[in-house]
Amino acid sequence: MSPVNDPLTPASRAWLARPLPMLIGGTWQPAAGGALLDVINPSDGRVVAQAAAGDSTDVDRAVGAARRAFDSGPWGTLPPAARARLLWRLAELIDQNSDQLAALETLNTGKPLRMARTFDVGMSAECLRYHAGWCTKLEGSTRRVSLPGEWHTYTLREPLGVAALIVPWNVPLPMAVGKIAPALAAGCTVVLKPAEATPLTALRLGELIVEAGFPPGVVNIVTGLGPVAGQALVGHPGVDKISFTGSTAVGKRILATSAAQLKRVSLELGGKSPVLIFPDADVERAIDAAARGIFGNSGQVCAAGSRLFVHEALFDRVIEGVAARARALRVAPGFDPACDMGPLISARQRDRVLGYVASGRDEGAKVLTGGEALPGEGFFMQPTVMVNTRPEMTMVREEIFGPVLSCFRFSGEDPIDALAAMANDTDYGLSASIWTRDLARAHRLARRIRAGNVRVNAAMAPDFAMPFGGMKQSGIGRENGREGVESFTELKSVAVSLDG
Ligand code: NAP
Ligand code: MG
Repeated sequence: MSPVNDPLTPASRAWLARPLPMLIGGTWQPAAGGALLDVINPSDGRVVAQAAAGDSTDVDRAVGAARRAFDSGPWGTLPPAARARLLWRLAELIDQNSDQLAALETLNTGKPLRMARTFDVGMSAECLRYHAGWCTKLEGSTRRVSLPGEWHTYTLREPLGVAALIVPWNVPLPMAVGKIAPALAAGCTVVLKPAEATPLTALRLGELIVEAGFPPGVVNIVTGLGPVAGQALVGHPGVDKISFTGSTAVGKRILATSAAQLKRVSLELGGKSPVLIFPDADVERAIDAAARGIFGNSGQVCAAGSRLFVHEALFDRVIEGVAARARALRVAPGFDPACDMGPLISARQRDRVLGYVASGRDEGAKVLTGGEALPGEGFFMQPTVMVNTRPEMTMVREEIFGPVLSCFRFSGEDPIDALAAMANDTDYGLSASIWTRDLARAHRLARRIRAGNVRVNAAMAPDFAMPFGGMKQSGIGRENGREGVESFTELKSVAVSLDG
């Protein structure tokens, strides 16, 4: 890859030049043990910053600060409208700093700068505004009971307490904000642990949180390794709720660990999402969407459409169309204005993805296009379309989390239940998309597909009003919407006898 001028300002460079501390109790602190993590630019493999490597001591301090802020700080008595204004203020600060946040996100992930600015940073500000509205709208209800005598009975919706928020590296800022916003809207205090690979925008967000005027300890940010800082957070008795996004393997471990204290747990895990294209679809739109759905963000998307099912009448046209789009994508560092697809997050992740391509070949699949790493520095690989894939292959069963598409054909005679069974032949159940103009078919399939999010004639439809989450091994719980905010609350029933 040729070096590309990046848009980092002198202020950003100076910020990156110092070891990045953690936000604990409203102050910026190095790790108690003094350890540091290297932060890598995946476009060239070079170290661009160092962040504190927090351990259980730091986690203990952060949870203590969050606990105090929840139990006795001003946060608990702040009127909901004041919480809403703080969330809205943070959204404005994100907008005001969008160029810098986007540049840091592209530096740390390699994703195209225009995508970082419009999607990652833009969505983060919108997420805060959406959730700001919920602060004033969480409420209980009165109930009519049939007990003897006269009663006043009602429910109270109360914040859960201290929430541990553990996020992955694929969309770092939206992940962090997507958990902080509903937790704070509900009245919780939080400890955020960003992914080891991508602490930059989370830490800059922490500075904006301080600038916005949140009371100390309401938001704490501990950077560090998953098995060290993450695990300490999951096991900490001061944590009431864990909201985790990441791999299914780690999600299962978190659920097991949290059982000891019966912590509330929300898990947003992996996927192996089906895309079904029928002959009556708008085929060109469907091809575009199928390509974007697997190559966007270099395929590092939990809801990526990684299994493509095409009716036999248009199979060749569709897979050739997707392959042509793959070949046309410019794979480059995200700061290159021509970049369509950036690198994978690490050499390890790229090798893992290439390993799935190799396993597919070994099991009889064929590479229609792509399949190779790009020479030179950085963790780039070609967008890849595989054919002759079969449902039992490892690359079809497991989540790849990279730009690799498996393709299947179905017959015109297949009944709706057989099509649903084909789409449902996976341990996962996160997302699905259906391309057809036949309304009855679309709705019948939407009911039968076991996935938390189904789209008809649409590539992506991310909106904070729509609950998002997985069935089966894709997770537990929903983010966004009223349900997402309520997942950070407990419901209490109060019964008052009026007979006394
Ligand atoms: P991961 O290893 O599960 O990591 C996710 C987060 O958990 C990171 O912050 C990680 O820290 C931390 N962690 C790792 N081990 C831990 C432990 N024992 N205890 C507590 N925390 C621990 O996943 P990843 O490799 O970063 O991300 C890719 C995966 O995330 C994919 O499988 C993808 O499908 C999934 N994902 C799901 C969604 C969704 O919404 N459903 C969205 C995005 C990604 P380190 O960074 O230090 O390892
Ligand atoms: Mg990991």
